[in-house]
Amino acid sequence: MTPPLGAHVSAAGGLARAIERGVALGCDALQVFVKNASQWRAKPVAGAEAEAFRAAHAASPIGPLVAHAAYLINLAAPDPEILAKSRAALADELERCARFGVPALVVHPGAHLGRGEEAGLAAVAESLDAVYAALGDCPTRTLLELTAGQGSVLGRRLADLEAIRARSGVRDRLGVCLDTCHAFAAGYPLDREPGYEEFLAEVEATVGLSAVECVHLNDSVGERGSRKDRHANLGEGRIGLGLFERLLADARLAGVPMILETPIGEDEQGHARDLAILRRLAPAGS
Ligand SMILES: [Zn+2]
Repeated sequence: MTPPLGAHVSAAGGLARAIERGVALGCDALQVFVKNASQWRAKPVAGAEAEAFRAAHAASPIGPLVAHAAYLINLAAPDPEILAKSRAALADELERCARFGVPALVVHPGAHLGRGEEAGLAAVAESLDAVYAALGDCPTRTLLELTAGQGSVLGRRLADLEAIRARSGVRDRLGVCLDTCHAFAAGYPLDREPGYEEFLAEVEATVGLSAVECVHLNDSVGERGSRKDRHANLGEGRIGLGLFERLLADARLAGVPMILETPIGEDEQGHARDLAILRRLAPAGS
């Protein structure tokens, strides 16, 4: 069975419009921003907006939904003011997701900005504990995304994501989001056969397969190990199509939503083209 395939689509004009865009693309799954991703603050979710989104989703063939958190958030920020803002922003986004009926929010762990990885990972775990303590019984899960490790960005190793979960008191609310571009840029040799199997074995040995609740499907502009977070359209980067064929056929990931975050291009057909490639690469009869 092919995993639910989708893309990160724009929420311009209201979040319900994202569902329309996903339907037009033929998505089975969808990723959205639940607020402007480059601003700290957003006006509260209106009841009518949440209702419109839930109704549009229910009436659509789209299944799994995930949201992606704002890029400003740094759960390891050494500056207490930025840290407080980051925690408040994450809490706000988790609550917005709950209102919209989006069960999981993907977040980049953060950047240590010079104080070292160990201290950074501990700070992220502490932030997640503080956020969930403030939220009470908010049902939204947080998915820690594997990163390319640019600069002092944390989370370029699967073991780092597991270190955060292991240190956190809310481990049962923390899943993982893999990103093929990030993993490759961080050094995992996903462009070849043993590399893929070794990566999956490492997933199993660290976070565990059941923690993988989302996969981002992106080719990489940067070379393996370049630690550059630049997404390319499928087959147009350094990874090549073999990886995506393997992912789509891997029974261990069969139920996991797989989401494109590739460039939409000048003609805005980038996701349509990449989805067509994925449908072609998927095993026959699925
Ligand atoms: Zn991603």
